[in-house]
Amino acid sequence: MKYWDEKPYYSLNYYLKQTFHEKVYRVALDAGMTCPNRDGTIGTGGCIFCSAGGSGDFAGDRKESITQQIEHGIQGLKKFHADGYIAYFQAYTNTYAPLSYLKQVYTEAIEHPQVKAISIATRPDCLSDETIALLATLNKKKPVWVELGLQTIHEETARYIRRGYLLECFENAVTRLRSKKIEVIVHTILGLPGENREDILETIHYLNRMDIQGIKLQLLHVLEGTDLAKDYRLGNFQVLELEEYVDLVVDCIANLSENIVIHRLTGDGPKDILIAPLWSTSKMQVLNRIHHRLKELGIWQGKALDRRLCEEKV
Ligand code: SF4
Repeated sequence: MKYWDEKPYYSLNYYLKQTFHEKVYRVALDAGMTCPNRDGTIGTGGCIFCSAGGSGDFAGDRKESITQQIEHGIQGLKKFHADGYIAYFQAYTNTYAPLSYLKQVYTEAIEHPQVKAISIATRPDCLSDETIALLATLNKKKPVWVELGLQTIHEETARYIRRGYLLECFENAVTRLRSKKIEVIVHTILGLPGENREDILETIHYLNRMDIQGIKLQLLHVLEGTDLAKDYRLGNFQVLELEEYVDLVVDCIANLSENIVIHRLTGDGPKDILIAPLWSTSKMQVLNRIHHRLKELGIWQGKALDRRLCEEKV
């Protein structure tokens, strides 16, 4: 077995410890933006799975300033005795605003004395050269990470979920961000309607070839008020069972390059609007099952790639 600290994969915790040498937690923010996939620029319905809160259901209160949200977030995490925080711009599309506004909110976060880095969730089609130049300047003060919602590499699924951009747009954004040494984290969803194990592993193998630094593996949640919920109620697809999800995650870990940091292995849908799968509300149970299965099968991150290389050499 190969271990990063005590886990057989390159966890975010391990990365944070190695990078900052102290305990760092994430504070989720809502900077009051919207999304071109909702305001009519690209579409009006949003991505098919996205909640009314713009996938930022645990973020701060948009009526508060960024500093106030960070302070409240820190208060809420007090019991963990953290030494520093990642200011995570989570809700909606966090580069979708005039440059002057982006500069103001990012700067407010980065200048907070307890903030060690900022992480910005956005779409690859909302990254102008001017925005990337701004991020590059800020990246010299403290680390700036950009999180891109890719979900899948398969265009048919991308059309179904109404992602609203093509794969080449994602590739272009990654190239431009990396040319400025900005770390890229990619959001993927496991269990999308119509996708099987092979489709999901194709996304993982594709990402191994890209210059990305982190990945989020997220279980598909069906949330109240989404068009995905309508399809689910019509019986057009089924959600994953716990053991199916555990096996898929373990496969993804085995097939993921060991240089990519795993930021998330599941995900917690907001309980008040979660329709399915309800087993996902017990995040600890899901993580325990994944860890148990990894151990049981003797899997570590990239193991299947090591084997592939050996077979190729023979
Ligand atoms: S791009 Fe993000 S915020 Fe916009 S609809 Fe899709 S998931 Fe929601």
